[in-house]
Amino acid sequence: LSTRASTILSAVGIPAESELPGVYHGEWVGSGDVLESVCPTTGEVLARVRSASPQELQTALGKSREAYTWFRMLPAPKRGEILRQIREALAAKRDELGALVSLEMGKIKTEGTGEVQEFIDIADYAVGLSRMMNGRVVASERPGHSILEVPNPLGVIAVLSAFNFPVAVYGWNLALSFAAGNATLWKPSPSTPLCSIAVTKIISGVLENNGVPGAVAGLVTGGKDVGEAVIESKDVDMVSFTGSEAVGRQVGKVVQSRFGKVLLELGGNNAAIIMPDADLDLAVPAVFFGAVGTAGQRCTTTRRLYLHRHIAPAFIERLQKLYSSIRPGDPLEQGTLLGPLHTRAAVGIYSGAVDRLRKEGAQILSGGSSYQGLAKPLDGGNFVMPTIAVPKSVNIKDAVWSQETFAPVLCVGVFDELEQAIAWNNGVPQGLSSSLWTRDLRNVGKWIGPAGSDAGIVNVNVGTSGAEIGAAFGGNKSTGWGRESGGDAWKEYVRWGACTINFSDEAPLAQGVQFSS
Ligand code: NAD
Repeated sequence: LSTRASTILSAVGIPAESELPGVYHGEWVGSGDVLESVCPTTGEVLARVRSASPQELQTALGKSREAYTWFRMLPAPKRGEILRQIREALAAKRDELGALVSLEMGKIKTEGTGEVQEFIDIADYAVGLSRMMNGRVVASERPGHSILEVPNPLGVIAVLSAFNFPVAVYGWNLALSFAAGNATLWKPSPSTPLCSIAVTKIISGVLENNGVPGAVAGLVTGGKDVGEAVIESKDVDMVSFTGSEAVGRQVGKVVQSRFGKVLLELGGNNAAIIMPDADLDLAVPAVFFGAVGTAGQRCTTTRRLYLHRHIAPAFIERLQKLYSSIRPGDPLEQGTLLGPLHTRAAVGIYSGAVDRLRKEGAQILSGGSSYQGLAKPLDGGNFVMPTIAVPKSVNIKDAVWSQETFAPVLCVGVFDELEQAIAWNNGVPQGLSSSLWTRDLRNVGKWIGPAGSDAGIVNVNVGTSGAEIGAAFGGNKSTGWGRESGGDAWKEYVRWGACTINFSDEAPLAQGVQFSS
């Protein structure tokens, strides 16, 4: 193992063993298929992890259920206190974990650390929430009656997560699920097992100190087979799935067919719209970050750019200048803005998308190929050039506009009226994030109103990516309608009971119904 990698792994307590156990349910086990964690920057194999065998998965599910039965009786503020300790333990390892995210996923260090910060933030939020997960008292039409809406812990929540946020997505789910009194079982992406092992070790240490069963925050690493077995299991009350549209469609069907609860956070195809009165000093760098940040591998990455005709040439010129300034580098090095794609396969997807654009007559203004001949050790990495393309027309049903390519490819179209740009923004199947740049209040009113953006995130003078934890996060339409993190998202992680209580000496029926002769 390179020194670069071994220093980071040892700092987060991952031993340099030939095979690591990838299942935690109170103890660490693992005898299923081997997962390889490959560094996207260098191609180096970082570790081999033994995923969950079918038997180990069943054991983990059983232990999660037992853990839930115990944990649900712990008062919510007490759960909050343990969550506070988890928050502290994560904060103590923030930089080390951030470096691990950068090493294993490939995003630049400040984004890796930012992801851990997001977990810390949502933990803070959920600590507060643990004293505020209130139900309601509802006025009853019957004398001497009260109606309560009561939240109770839901059960076992399985979190299936994507490679691109190997820490934060679990954090959003765990924090709310934990405060709500559930047992959470995490099935991370098979290509980022080390992040999940490191995070689970930190959390399990806190649970142990507090005498809480480890399976309250369990882990089952594995690929498609493990994922399928988890979502099919009747032991899982809710599946929170973050990933692609194609897999999410399957997951939604499977969980629905057994009447489980499902929360879907799927792909995005996010547009930024630039009006003629926009402040370009702000808009150009924001589009640059939105399109190129995380090498185009955020669900909220800016993939479509709609420019008003009056500012289009100036905007493009300034954006191209930024694109031409970018250099690929080790994401762990300070100053690097462009890391690699996460896998070799993603390079193929990127090339396929660029080829299709060329074939359909698009103009490629920047980028358009992968990097060749990089110096060691980057020559083993998956580096591609951020690309700006201008397709021949904005035919919104065409694949180049309507599909999510999970790579830094930005398609540009030119419009004359805001209404046209909003129609293009809304004309795709996905509905995650969207961004309008204007100083005109009338445009803002249109954009956030009934005839405005139909996405779950509707920003003004803020780019498509980089959400805070306070608001509910998620998308509409084929993005799956799920909401996580802040806002009212916690209400999904509990079971609600409407309890009508009769304190009187009569037993009247509602609506004045009489049922006695
Ligand atoms: P993916 O769909 O390939 O995998 C996601 C998870 O599903 C992984 O844990 C995988 O092992 C598991 N899985 C695969 N097949 C399965 C099956 N048949 N049954 C059950 N589980 C299965 O996604 P990915 O490539 O890891 O992530 C990229 C995608 O995730 C992009 O589309 C991106 O937009 C999306 N994403 C969305 C959000 C959001 O909040 N909306 C956030 C991050 C990523």
